[in-house]
Amino acid sequence: MLNFTYDALPSRVVFGVGAVDRLGEEVDRLGAGRVLVLCTESGRSRAEDITRRLGDRRAGIYDKAVMHVPAATAAAAQAEARRLGADCCVAVGGGSTIGLGKAIALEDGPPIVAVPMTYAGSEMTPIWGLTEGGVKRTGRDPRVLPKTVIYDPALTVSLPASVSGPSGINAIAHCVEALYAKDGNPITSLMAEEGIRALGKSLPAVVATPDDLDARGLALYGAWLAGATLGSVSVGLHHKLCHTLGGSFGLPHAEVHTVILPHAAAYNRAAAADAMDRAARALGADDAAGALFDLAVAVGAKVALKDIGMAAADLDRAAELATQNPYDNPRPITRDGIRALLQDAYDGVRP
Ligand code: NAD
Repeated sequence: MLNFTYDALPSRVVFGVGAVDRLGEEVDRLGAGRVLVLCTESGRSRAEDITRRLGDRRAGIYDKAVMHVPAATAAAAQAEARRLGADCCVAVGGGSTIGLGKAIALEDGPPIVAVPMTYAGSEMTPIWGLTEGGVKRTGRDPRVLPKTVIYDPALTVSLPASVSGPSGINAIAHCVEALYAKDGNPITSLMAEEGIRALGKSLPAVVATPDDLDARGLALYGAWLAGATLGSVSVGLHHKLCHTLGGSFGLPHAEVHTVILPHAAAYNRAAAADAMDRAARALGADDAAGALFDLAVAVGAKVALKDIGMAAADLDRAAELATQNPYDNPRPITRDGIRALLQDAYDGVRP
């Protein structure tokens, strides 16, 4: 029997090749006129170019966004927004840059217009993260959800294949966990299945032909759906484990998601059989875990923890840390189960 709660998140999406030309008008729509542009140092010239469309609405650029939003960076960005009297932040980049915008918005800062350039999906979620003293705190707050998201596939052709593949699989991970989330519902499941289908189909083409705008568009559409599902449901084993491996062992974000996802799917294979059937169907396969591993190989991504900076000597500690705090997951979390999963992921065996 259907019985669920669906909480729609209020954000406006402008999608399509050339959509970024509407940047100025979207800022006007929010009643804003003094924009602080956010980006990474390496993405600065791209962000400058893209935000020329703001004309004299552009009050300044802050280019210090880095992975996992260090608290000191967030404080400096908040101060810069105040100094400029900014009434809008335009975040141009991936999850790191959008995360910085969220950190500003969290302190009652100005609203965000996001121009995502990766497939991480952060632009569609009210989830923020801040890192201090090596510990990353995350939370949900409706104030950090970008008001407007401009998805322009043409902006993503510069995203290298080596970043595109893992980033897209990071998005698929949001969808897979949404399919078995205890607070999921038929709508998030529809979005999740469609997101897996779109990303599973587009990512090999994106990697083979980075300037294929149809494939880039389909991947970005999948990323949107993935972010929207992540924003609406709670996460289980996969995201919790990746959080531990990224936070405590410094493994790169999208890459660790790519390695862990097939093994998390295998761990939940029997306990979340319906969800795994839907994920497999979306990938045109019989078994989700195996198909996710094959997809990672097909996009040229690394599939073993040992190849992305994990030390074998740390596997025991990782299993301890990942099982310290209980959380919901289709199959109960046990230390032995997680240790075995980590060994398979370390070795890169196909589940
Ligand atoms: P990222 O933002 O760090 O970007 C990855 C790399 O791609 C960077 O080197 C960047 O300069 C480069 N890049 C981005 N766009 C480019 C382009 N168009 N052309 C060339 N290079 C480009 O990586 P990410 O995976 O998007 O984000 C990871 C961060 O986002 C993590 O901190 C993660 O925790 C967070 N995240 C948050 C949420 C959320 O809902 N809050 C969701 C997903 C990820």
